[in-house]
Amino acid sequence: MRIHVMTLFPEMFFGPLGSSIIKRAQEDQKLSIQYYQIRDYSTNKHQKVDGYPYGGGSGMVMTPQPIIDAYREIRKNSSENPRTIYLSPKGKMFTQQMAMELSKEEELIFLCGHYEGVDQRVIDEIVTDEISIGDYVLTGGELPAMVMIDAVSRMIPGVLSSAEAYEDESIHSGLLEYPQYTRPPSFEGKDVPKVLLSGDHEKIRKWRRSEALRITKERRPDLFQRIELSKEDYKLLKP
Ligand code: SAM
Repeated sequence: MRIHVMTLFPEMFFGPLGSSIIKRAQEDQKLSIQYYQIRDYSTNKHQKVDGYPYGGGSGMVMTPQPIIDAYREIRKNSSENPRTIYLSPKGKMFTQQMAMELSKEEELIFLCGHYEGVDQRVIDEIVTDEISIGDYVLTGGELPAMVMIDAVSRMIPGVLSSAEAYEDESIHSGLLEYPQYTRPPSFEGKDVPKVLLSGDHEKIRKWRRSEALRITKERRPDLFQRIELSKEDYKLLKP
């Protein structure tokens, strides 16, 4: 997958997306990420990228010209109509389902807003998806873009090794994940549940399922409602 990021702060991405699994994905050429400093495309003699909002109000709005020119530069060598995502608290809420869907694209373009956001004409002209990562307001679209790129990239086939597979994970499986334990079997007087040390795979499977059901019911009744419970699930849920 080829990812293009239009931002005023490319340096914010280098640490988070240059480490761990996403770094490995780029080294293995499963993923390439290119950054476009919006300011470099400004034709203003002071390289200005923002202006006062028409109609008044606080803050500044990002002007269309540098963004549209950066976008045109990206499109010179890109596929037909790549999905172009504007990160915005006004957008549709980002979900695991969307991450899965976007991971099938060959190319994605991200536009990170700053200040009070971008001129609406940019959104009307180039944006295909306006996406929010949650009901809170951040200072810029850089962190939301990183969140999305991380979530989408790990769904690209081959990015996660089988040991890191996502099928059982919280949300993706429809349930929140069961508790995980590792060595030592006893730590400061707290023991790992005996069943996990039993070697009985069927018992372990049932314990994990019942824990996942219990935790989801307690913490996320909205998710729990959507699960189709099996006869075994009803039994496992009985106190
Ligand atoms: N004035 C805007 C509003 O009320 O909708 C908020 C602008 S916010 C301070 C600056 C930029 O941060 C936005 O343009 C957007 O790119 C990004 N941003 C902030 N919160 C976000 C969220 N929850 N999800 C995605 N992007 C967000």
